[in-house]
Amino acid sequence: MMTAQPRNHAEKSLSAIVPLFNEQELVELSLQVLVDQLQATGHPFEIICVDDGSSDGTLGQLYRRADSDKRIRVVALSRNFGKEAAMAAGLEVADGDAVLFLDADLQHPPELIPQMLELWQSGYDIVNGVKEQRAREPFVYRIFANLFNRLMAGAADSDFRGASDFKLLDRQVADVLRQLPETRRFFRGLVAWSGFRSVRLPYAVKERAAGKTKWSSLGLLRYSIRNLLAFSEMPLRAVATAGFCTLIFSALLAAWQLYRFVTGWTLSGFTTVILLQLFLGGLLLTGVGIVAVYLAEMYGEVKQRPLYVIRRPRESELVQHEPTEPSAVSNQLSAGNQKSES
Ligand code: UDP
Ligand code: MG
Repeated sequence: MMTAQPRNHAEKSLSAIVPLFNEQELVELSLQVLVDQLQATGHPFEIICVDDGSSDGTLGQLYRRADSDKRIRVVALSRNFGKEAAMAAGLEVADGDAVLFLDADLQHPPELIPQMLELWQSGYDIVNGVKEQRAREPFVYRIFANLFNRLMAGAADSDFRGASDFKLLDRQVADVLRQLPETRRFFRGLVAWSGFRSVRLPYAVKERAAGKTKWSSLGLLRYSIRNLLAFSEMPLRAVATAGFCTLIFSALLAAWQLYRFVTGWTLSGFTTVILLQLFLGGLLLTGVGIVAVYLAEMYGEVKQRPLYVIRRPRESELVQHEPTEPSAVSNQLSAGNQKSES
């Protein structure tokens, strides 16, 4: 922990960025909790809700909520671009002196906001929410997460144990992140990379308030590999090292076989040849594969497609259609509709 100079309190504004993907069960509750917490801080604030191409009623609910509370802003992506893109889209429009990132499912406890602000005001540029204990997760997940955080720590030279996207950033840091050109982003890694004065704030991970996690196991695996590659050249160097070691080994083996040949020993059998073939084949393919994965990442960046696409709402989407007191019939109807949608 570095010591830091206190910041001037007066009228600093806050932006909270919340990415949402199919969170219709949670929109009301989350926003209410968040508004209450932010209001209690006494700072002027805005909440930027980024709808990440939800296919349920999330976006409609957001527009409705934003209509009645001007501190809530909605950014709608044209399809599901993923949480990283959604957070970047929020960052692009956020103009607070401090920017807070948190999930919509209340797993990032809004009760900690006052503490985060205090740390920020005492001079820290980055307040990292750190998971104290992971919520009920399968054992394999935990092992995998630990392994990933350890590898990541080596790659990005920073402590990733318990790292999460629950963070408060000073405007300076937010601006640095905004200016980064890469489209394949790993928020946690980039924040660590940016440097600045940071502090860890532990929090206990709660269960999701409602709904389900949006991650599949395969999705998580892909995300982890991609993030590791984005921060580390180690696998590429490992390919070169493996190639070099193999070369030395084969030179020694060749010398030995030559010696046996000259001294008139019979050459050993078929098995050695097969094993060597398999070993070298495997090594070569792995090497080519690792290089190919990097190439694919570079291909992705070179195309320079934007990280996300924003969809502006039609006039009709912003107008509130429901009568304020729906009749029993229309209640039943909308309940039925919701069921058939989900
Ligand atoms: N999310 C998103 N886009 C996605 C997946 C998730 O914006 O493609 C949002 C989601 O709505 C939630 C946050 O990212 O607010 C964290 O997602 P989730 O709770 O599913 O992840 P977990 O907490 O299980 O890691
Ligand atoms: Mg969650």
